[in-house]
Amino acid sequence: MLLGVAVILPTVCLLWFMSQAVKNERLAVRQKLIDSYTSRAQEIFFKDPEIAIEDPNEFSASIIYDQNDKLIYPFRTNQTANFPAYNIEKAWELEYVDKNYDEAIKQYDSISLLSSIVEITYDCKIAVVRCLIKQKKTTEAIEKCRQLVYPSPDTLPIPPIHSAYARLMLIDLYSKTNHPDVLKELQNQLSQIEVKPSISTETKIFVLGELIKLAQKSGLIEKLKSEIEKTQKIINSASLSIMAADYFDADIAAQGKPDKTFYKIQTTPPLYCIKFKNDDKKTVNLLTAEKMKQLWQSSVDDFTDELIFCRILDNTGQIIAGQPEMWLGGKYSQGQKFLTRSLGKFFPDWQVELYFRYGIFTAAARRQQMIYTWTAILVIGLMVVLAGVAGKTVARQVKLNKLKNDFIATVSHELKTPLSSMRVLVDTLLDGNYEGEKTAAEYLQLVSKENERLSRLIDNFLTFSRMERNKQAFDIGPAEPAEIAKAAVDAVQTKFGKARCKFDVSIDENLPQVPADKDAMVTVLLNLLDNAYKYSYDDKQIELKVFAEEDKVCFSVKDNGIGMGRRAVKKIFNRFYQVDSSLSRSAEGTGLGLAIVKFIVDAHKGQITVESKPDEGSEFVVKMPIVGK
Ligand code: ADP
Repeated sequence: MLLGVAVILPTVCLLWFMSQAVKNERLAVRQKLIDSYTSRAQEIFFKDPEIAIEDPNEFSASIIYDQNDKLIYPFRTNQTANFPAYNIEKAWELEYVDKNYDEAIKQYDSISLLSSIVEITYDCKIAVVRCLIKQKKTTEAIEKCRQLVYPSPDTLPIPPIHSAYARLMLIDLYSKTNHPDVLKELQNQLSQIEVKPSISTETKIFVLGELIKLAQKSGLIEKLKSEIEKTQKIINSASLSIMAADYFDADIAAQGKPDKTFYKIQTTPPLYCIKFKNDDKKTVNLLTAEKMKQLWQSSVDDFTDELIFCRILDNTGQIIAGQPEMWLGGKYSQGQKFLTRSLGKFFPDWQVELYFRYGIFTAAARRQQMIYTWTAILVIGLMVVLAGVAGKTVARQVKLNKLKNDFIATVSHELKTPLSSMRVLVDTLLDGNYEGEKTAAEYLQLVSKENERLSRLIDNFLTFSRMERNKQAFDIGPAEPAEIAKAAVDAVQTKFGKARCKFDVSIDENLPQVPADKDAMVTVLLNLLDNAYKYSYDDKQIELKVFAEEDKVCFSVKDNGIGMGRRAVKKIFNRFYQVDSSLSRSAEGTGLGLAIVKFIVDAHKGQITVESKPDEGSEFVVKMPIVGK
């Protein structure tokens, strides 16, 4: 039990310490990661993106106001100004109702000459071109149109809107007649993207859109690819500007937002804007959600790795860039948030959120746990082995102690009996309390018998002691089985020669030699014969047979004595074992005889078997190997 406690207690402590260590390690690793990622985030996210202020080209569009908050761009004008009534209706009637184009042209020409209003003059000039087209006088129409688009310096300056319309007409005419100048003209017009302050941004969008359509019609899309791309961008940007300007017109709250702060306006689609003010104007720069995402994406990509991810939320709490909200494993999003910060000074209400991916700590901790578990198993294993060894040593020690005690008890008990009986006999002889020489001789014989028993006892003890210390050395050599048997028979002859003891000896002739220490083998037979004598009733029948069987020589000692039960038979070769029957108790014995017998037989590589039945008798057979086999 003590050993158990000695193993279990440290094991439990060890496991507890290890689980604690894993926990601590996890916390430490987590804190370290948080620190390092926080400082990285500081570098990546909390610096104001320079791009937002430095380069207006990065913006999708912009709106410009003057210092009086008057909109400068996008430019809006009231283009449907009312002109004083003139005789133009007559010309329209001729053109559209009577379809008398010659007359209509005459009418338009005269109005344009007479009119002092430049818009009416050019309305009529354009109407002339229109009529010529309707008359299919294309060459003439082209010529007139060219004069409008490229006027001579002395003519009245053409209003931008008429000029734009004339240009569209000219390109249309070129395109219909496959004129060689169509590409050149389109290129010219598409690259004139500068805003003419007198053309409204809406008109500009319209004209540019028409130019792209004409390019399509003329099959020149491929050739004008880069111009068209640029134009498309201008159209998109201008449309966004108009949309945002309308929104700002309507939304007082949006106008009141602080400068240099990015915020979202709820146009469709929503836009992000930032206001900058300098002395003479106020600019509102606009970014589409897509552009805003691009702006942050590289930072987000830079930051994201296999341990963490992040996302950026705008001032309305909507995700701009990074991991979208996801339903995963019973939780929203895929990680554990460890930091929320607002993004620098241009983005005060915006946030960056940093997350640990789920499972990274578990994976790291699992690895650590594996190492700890294996260490624990090894240490526990080692402890168990050591405890086993210690236990075994202690058990051996205990056994040895018991053996010692048993030995001392047995020795003293067994020596006492013959010694005291000898003492009584010798005392009687000394006192002279005996009748005649014969009795004296009998007494002396008894003394000699006890003496002999004592010597055999001591022999046995010595053999046993040597045997226990592994000091018993046998002088094994070829020996005649018959000689061994005869030596044993001689030794017991006197004792067995009594009236009520029948002792039969049969030794086969020409027995093969056995490899044996002769004296030791005689001891074996003497012990067996002694037991046969001791554990028999008064009418004893003892048999010693020596015979060959297959390639063995067998020594059999058989008696008609008290016999033994099966359970006893299994134990009789144990040291100090004695079957607890009245007869065996009454007979003197040490319980060592058969242990010695077995030891000697084993040392000779022989075998000993027992057959016994209570009250019928026992037969012990020792089988010895033959020399040379
Ligand atoms: P002991 O000195 O007691 O005879 P042994 O080792 O010779 O010790 O024998 C062990 C026990 O085996 C004996 O005590 C006895 O009970 C039993 N035994 C041995 N030989 C015989 C036999 N021939 N018949 C019955 N019992 C026997």
